[in-house]
Amino acid sequence: MAKTTEPNRNKRYDPAKPHITETPLTRSNWYKHVNWLNVTLIIGVPLYGCIQALWTPLQWKTAAFAVLYYFWTGLGITAGYHRLWAHTSYKARLPLQIFLAAVGGGAVEGSIRWWSRDHRAHHRYTDTEKDPYSVRKGLMYSHIGWMVMKQNPKRIGRTDISDLNDDPVVVWQHRHYLKVVIFMGLIFPMLVTGLGWNDWKGGFVYAGILRIFFVQQATFCVNSLAHWLGDQPFDDRNSPRDHILTAFVTLGEGYHNFHHEFPSDYRNAIRWFQYDPTKWSIWAWKQLGLAYDLKQFRQNEIDKGRVQQMQKKLDQARAKLDWGIPLDQLPVMEWDDYQEQAKNGRGLIAVAGVVHDVTDFIKDHPGGRAMINSGIGKDATAMFNGGVYLHSNAAHNLLSTMRIGVIRGGCEIRQNLSDRCIHNFIKHIISNYNSYVHQNGEF
Ligand SMILES: [Zn+2]
Ligand SMILES: [Zn+2]
Repeated sequence: MAKTTEPNRNKRYDPAKPHITETPLTRSNWYKHVNWLNVTLIIGVPLYGCIQALWTPLQWKTAAFAVLYYFWTGLGITAGYHRLWAHTSYKARLPLQIFLAAVGGGAVEGSIRWWSRDHRAHHRYTDTEKDPYSVRKGLMYSHIGWMVMKQNPKRIGRTDISDLNDDPVVVWQHRHYLKVVIFMGLIFPMLVTGLGWNDWKGGFVYAGILRIFFVQQATFCVNSLAHWLGDQPFDDRNSPRDHILTAFVTLGEGYHNFHHEFPSDYRNAIRWFQYDPTKWSIWAWKQLGLAYDLKQFRQNEIDKGRVQQMQKKLDQARAKLDWGIPLDQLPVMEWDDYQEQAKNGRGLIAVAGVVHDVTDFIKDHPGGRAMINSGIGKDATAMFNGGVYLHSNAAHNLLSTMRIGVIRGGCEIRQNLSDRCIHNFIKHIISNYNSYVHQNGEF
């Protein structure tokens, strides 16, 4: 339940009034559909930064710090917003929580509370209308369109964020978000480069604005690229995919097919050689006593998912091939009918009770015409399976595509043969009965 103290996302939003997204976009109202605050933050400010960069010399110390701060603020999103708060895949001690809330704020991607709410909806309703950044609406929509255009709050799927509303760090950051953004996004990097080596403007342009732009674009790639590029080793019913390129861009968030299957696992990459610096950082914090309760799915569950997906792909590939008419759909033939047709010139061969029409194959038989002709009209089971030549698996497969019928009884049954069989059977029962009576007396 939402608490009365719960911070409001948009105080002007009135659910009773129709939202702008409920009116069709036209030439006269298009600007009302645009989220101008987001346009300013994710397009306008970076453009201003690019222009400023034209006459702001880049010092190498500032460049190095900008890259370092890119990693910190990126980790604030991946290890903080994403894996700690949205998925609770591990627990962090207070100093680490404060650090992640601060540097995550410096990435300028909204408050933890807002970000995690949408992200939980994204996982719960992946690829549906209730997914805030569904890739089914287009790659550009999932990357940036969902922020540039206003969204109807009623559309986004409901999620439980009661744990976040009870988290004092999350609530504090949400309440003071603007101050956090301005300080951690711009003032802090300027203080470092300004007080450090007197490059105030370089800190503002490179470690501030342009670094924010790169971190934002990297994170947006998780919503777009990670749902569009790569493999689906665990489940292919939805769009998430694994790709090394996305992992490089997003500090290891690119193993997104795995992540959507096992969202509360603190890892995104599970192999040691896969690039997941977010996982490595969480592990290192654990060694330092700053993180604990790292959640991990059992390898058995992970392997099960992978094997099931492999089986699915295999079944799909198998279904595309011609394996011959299934045995239970073949017509039943009498032995005499089989022989009759073979005598009349049809190239029929019975192997293991199944009749095959090899007429068109005789001339192509790798063992020669004579060999295959010798089996026509006979029970060639033994001949085919080693009596004359032990045929390959490929030959078995090829033969099965020539099936036309099954023999009643499975093989040649002549009347006098079966009569003799019944006679022997009765004799067998009588002798058994006699020996029973001899030992135990009459019933
Ligand atoms: Zn996703
Ligand atoms: Zn996630």
